[in-house]
Amino acid sequence: MNIAVVGAGVAGSYLSRMLQDRGHKVKVFESSPIDRHWPVCAWGASKNMLAIFSKRAGLDFEDYILHKGKILKMYLPKNNTESLDLRGLVTYDKKKWEHDLLAGTEVSYGRRYTLDNFPVTEFDYVLDCTGYHRSLLPKSKHDFVIPAYEYLVENVKEINEFYVIGYKGARGYFWYFPLDNGRGYVGAGDIDRNYFGINEFFQNNPSARVIRKIGRPIRLAPPLHMKPFFQGNIIGVGESIGCVFPMLGEGIIPSLICSDLFLEVLEKDTNKFDYDSYTKKILKKFEYYHDVYRIVRLKMSGSLSTIKHLKLLMKMYTNMKREEQRFGFEISFEKMTRLIRPL
Ligand SMILES: Cc1cc2nc3c(=O)[nH]c(=O)nc-3n(C[C@H](O)[C@H](O)[C@H](O)COP(=O)(O)OP(=O)(O)OC[C@H]3O[C@@H](n4cnc5c(N)ncnc54)[C@H](O)[C@@H]3O)c2cc1C
Repeated sequence: MNIAVVGAGVAGSYLSRMLQDRGHKVKVFESSPIDRHWPVCAWGASKNMLAIFSKRAGLDFEDYILHKGKILKMYLPKNNTESLDLRGLVTYDKKKWEHDLLAGTEVSYGRRYTLDNFPVTEFDYVLDCTGYHRSLLPKSKHDFVIPAYEYLVENVKEINEFYVIGYKGARGYFWYFPLDNGRGYVGAGDIDRNYFGINEFFQNNPSARVIRKIGRPIRLAPPLHMKPFFQGNIIGVGESIGCVFPMLGEGIIPSLICSDLFLEVLEKDTNKFDYDSYTKKILKKFEYYHDVYRIVRLKMSGSLSTIKHLKLLMKMYTNMKREEQRFGFEISFEKMTRLIRPL
């Protein structure tokens, strides 16, 4: 098959490698100019899963790890604090990882594609891997995104662990994600765009120097709200169709899981991609993201009750517990309720 991959982020770079390994002809189209291409992300994910995806794509994930987390400290409203044991959460060199996956692939950089300027008919399939932008698929009326930005900083002296500050009403959170040699990502996603914690970080860490400022909104709407997943021969993969864990705005692993589902369906019958089967698989795999999304929206609107919505909360907990490895941190019901209450 002759396949175009639009967007050279997590899903796009992984799929380009995997599709070529299966004998398909692939061309990648990326909007950023080659010298300015930088993954807008805090580069944090579970190594338990990334090791598997990397191996499949011929990479050794150990080569990319920048920081192995031990503990995640959480500062919550009303002076509550909580900490989670980390069981695989790391930061990794996402730029190099994506770059290495694209080695040997024909990539066209520096042009933002839309339906008006993309040669859709020249390819058997066109994959919309443009993440938040969803540039080749119709907009969804049920979309929901949270504004976010972050700084890449260096010369951070005092802190060398993950920490977050949760905002009241689950309206967002601040994060510090350590990288290597005193570098880290300082950022926040916040519906209200106050981004509490960022200025405070710089006041408390006067030695920290900003190397780069990046940002874009993060999609929280789950796949159920991001249909259609395809139009003509264009198929959405990754954040473009809502594969982001809504509670955390965490989309690296979900986008890779989504990529594998795409490959699974394509492999069944290369000549005729089964759109229906793809839709069903995505909705099934990410079904509980819809429950999690409901919890987030209820909390944001101040109407989440730990009694009335206990069933929903239990469902989220059981699903997360089942996937503890994939999250890379401990999942405890006790801690989860202690966390949700002050928010
Ligand atoms: C500030 C921030 C921090 C985050 N931190 C984390 C984190 O630590 N861990 C985590 O798991 N998730 C994090 N996320 C979410 C995560 O980065 C995304 O969900 C994930 O990268 C989505 O993967 P993707 O391949 O679908 O899209 P992306 O990785 O976003 O890739 C999309 C690519 O498409 C390109 N593109 C966009 N529009 C066009 C177009 N029209 N034509 C051509 N190319 C185009 C973009 O330049 C980009 O390279 C964060 C997001 C943000 C915004």
